[in-house]
Amino acid sequence: MVGVSRNKSAKKIGVLALQGAFASHQKVFHKLSVDAVEVRTPTDLEKVDALVMPGGESTTMSQLLESSQLFDPIKNRLKDGLPVFGTCAGMILLAKNILDGRDDQLSFDAIEIDVQRNAYGRQIDSFEAEIDIDSLDQPFHAVFIRAPRIVSLGSQVQALAYCGDDVVLAQQDNILVASFHPELANDVRLHELFLKGV
Ligand code: GLN
Repeated sequence: MVGVSRNKSAKKIGVLALQGAFASHQKVFHKLSVDAVEVRTPTDLEKVDALVMPGGESTTMSQLLESSQLFDPIKNRLKDGLPVFGTCAGMILLAKNILDGRDDQLSFDAIEIDVQRNAYGRQIDSFEAEIDIDSLDQPFHAVFIRAPRIVSLGSQVQALAYCGDDVVLAQQDNILVASFHPELANDVRLHELFLKGV
C-alpha cells in the first residue's frame, strides 16, 4: 500500500488537448518532472487539479469545447477556483470579452480582460521579444504568434509583464494568462510559476 499512497497528495495537471499547441506544454511539464495529462472529455477533466489552455485557434477550440461537452464542466470548475493557465488562444478563451471574434465564439469570462484577436497587424503577425516578468530575475524570451492584445483590464487583474505598452502576462486569482507562447521558449520558469500557485 505504500506505493499507492506515495503520490496521493500530488496535484494532477491537465492540458486541454482539443486543438493547438498542447503537446509543447506537456513537454515543458515533462522537463519539470510533472506529468501533464490530456483533457478531451468531461471525465478527463474530473481527474485534474489544474488546467492549461494552449495556443491554437480560439474559434475552433470554442466549437470543440461545445461538441466535446467540456464547456459547462470547465465553466463550473473555474467558478470553484480551478487554477488555469491560458496562453494565446487559451487567453482568449478565458477572457471576459473578445474583440474581432466570431459571432458564435464562446469565452469563459474567467478573467476581467478584453482581448482583441490577431491585434498586432500583418507585418508583425509573429514576433519575439525579451520581456521582464515580475518575480523572475532574468528576462523571458516571449514568442508572439498571431497574438491577441489585452486592450483593457479590470481592477482585479494584476499586470505581471509588459511588451511595450501592452500587458502580456496577467493574473486574477486562480487565472494566469499570457498573450505569447511560453511553451516555445525553451524556458520552464513560467510553468514553474503556475505550478507554485496550484
Ligand atoms: N489568433 C489565434 C486565435 O484567435 C490565436 C493565436 C495563437 O494561439 N497563437 O485563436
